Amino acid sequence: MSAHMTPEQFRVHGHQVVDWIADYYERIESLPVLSQAEPGAVRAALPAEPPEQGEPFDAVLRDLDEVILPGITHWQHPSFFAYFPANASGPAILGDLLASGLGVQGMLWATSPAATELETHVLDWLASLFDLPAAFRGNGVIQHTASDAALVALVAALHRVSGGSTEHNGVHSGQFAVYTSAQTHSSVEKACRVAGLGADALRKIDIDPATQAARSEHLRALVEADVAAGIHPALVVASVGATGTGAVDPTRELAVIAREHGAWLHVDAAWAGVATICPELRWLNYGVELADSYCTNPHKWLLTNFDCDAFWVADRGALIGALSILPEFLRNAATDSGEVIDYRDWHVPLGRRFRALKLWTVIRWYGAEGLREHIRGHVALAQEFASWVAADDRFELVAPHPLALVTFRLREGDDATRALMDRVNASGKLYLTHTVVNGAVALRMAIGSPQTQRRHVQAAWAALSAT
Ligand code: PLP
Repeated sequence: MSAHMTPEQFRVHGHQVVDWIADYYERIESLPVLSQAEPGAVRAALPAEPPEQGEPFDAVLRDLDEVILPGITHWQHPSFFAYFPANASGPAILGDLLASGLGVQGMLWATSPAATELETHVLDWLASLFDLPAAFRGNGVIQHTASDAALVALVAALHRVSGGSTEHNGVHSGQFAVYTSAQTHSSVEKACRVAGLGADALRKIDIDPATQAARSEHLRALVEADVAAGIHPALVVASVGATGTGAVDPTRELAVIAREHGAWLHVDAAWAGVATICPELRWLNYGVELADSYCTNPHKWLLTNFDCDAFWVADRGALIGALSILPEFLRNAATDSGEVIDYRDWHVPLGRRFRALKLWTVIRWYGAEGLREHIRGHVALAQEFASWVAADDRFELVAPHPLALVTFRLREGDDATRALMDRVNASGKLYLTHTVVNGAVALRMAIGSPQTQRRHVQAAWAALSAT
C-alpha cells in the first residue's frame, strides 16, 4: 500500500465517512446521551504502541464504532440538555470538510486572500443579522472560542489603558483591574491569569438576586475604590446570557461607567448573542453601541460546528497594536500596502484555519429565516417546559428564562435536587447539568440541539417529574 491516500482511495473512504456520519445522525436517538465509559476504558482498548505499518481505513472505522463511540457523550443527541448546546449541522460539517480539503493556513491576507475576505464578509453578514453597531462592520474576526475573545479583549484593553505601549501589556500585576459579575464565565478569570495580571486583578460585581444580573452601582463603587488606590480600571465584561442562569447584565449602565474611567467594555454573549437574529430578541443588544468589543459563538446555538467564536471590535487599533509583530519572514507587498487585513494580528496564534467557510455554508443553506426558526423553536420549547415546572408544587423556577435555558430546583433542597439529576443522567435517556443560584443547587435545562423536538422535552419532563 502506498503511503499516501490516492484521490481515488480518498473518494471511496470519503463516501464511507459521510455515510457513517449520516447513519450516526439517523440512529443517535437510540444511543445513551451520556457516555457510560469508566475512566481509562478507552485507553485500555487502544494498542499501547502506534502501528509500524499503515492500516486499512476500514480498520479505523471499525475501531470508531467499537472503541471510540462508547466513550462519546452525544452532544447532538435530541435529549442533550447539559451546559450550552454545541450545534453541528450538515452544511457546517461539509463547510469544515471543504476547509480541511483546501488545507489553507490563512495567517496573512497574502496566504489566501479568499480566506481573509470571506471571513470579514460573513462577519459583516452576521453583524447585520444581529443588528450590531455600524462601528463593528469590517472589524470582525473568528476566534477559536469566547475564552480567546476575552483574552484578546483584555490584551487590547491593557494596550489602550497603558497609552498604547506594548511594554505594558499585562506585565504590571497590581496596577490594573478587571470587573465582571459573579455570574460571568470563568474564562475572564483565566484571561487575567494568562495576561499576567493574576486572578487578584478580578473584581466581582454583586448581582441582583432576582435577575442574577450585575448591579451597576456596585461596579461604580468598585471602580472608584480602585481609582482612589491608584489602580487603573482596564476592562469591564458584561455578560449577555451568563452561563449559570442566562442572566443578562445591563450593558449600557456598565459601559457608561467603564467609559467614564477609560476602561474597555467587552460583551460576552457567547451563548445568547446569536438569538438577536430574531428581532423580538434584540433587547439583548441594549447598550452594545457603547461596547469596545463583543463576542458570540455560532458554535453554540447557530448550527456551526465547534470552533467558531465571532468577535468584533469597534476600533481595531488597540487590538492590532497589542498583537502585531512583523518579523522579516512575514513581510509581503500586500501587508506593506496597509490595504489588507492580516488576521494573524487579531488573535494569539499565528496560523489559522479557514473557519469562515463553515459559517458561509451555514448561512447560505439556512438563510436568515431558517436560522430564526431554529432559535425560535428552542425558545418556545423552553417556555413550555418552564410552564410545566411552574405548575408542579414540588419544583420551583429560580431565575428568569426569556431564552432557551430554564433553571429550576426541587423545593425539598440541594441533596434531593442533585440526586434527581444524577438519577436521570444515569438513565442515559437525557443529560442535564447544574449550577448554584443564590447559594442553592439548581438544575439547568438548556434546549438547543438541532434534533430536539417537543416530544424530547416532554419526555425529559416526564422523566424528571417521575424520578
Ligand atoms: N462565556 C459564556 C457566557 C459561556 O457560556 C461560555 C461557555 O459556555 C464561555 C464564555 C466559554 O466558551 P468557549 O468554550 O467558547 O470559550
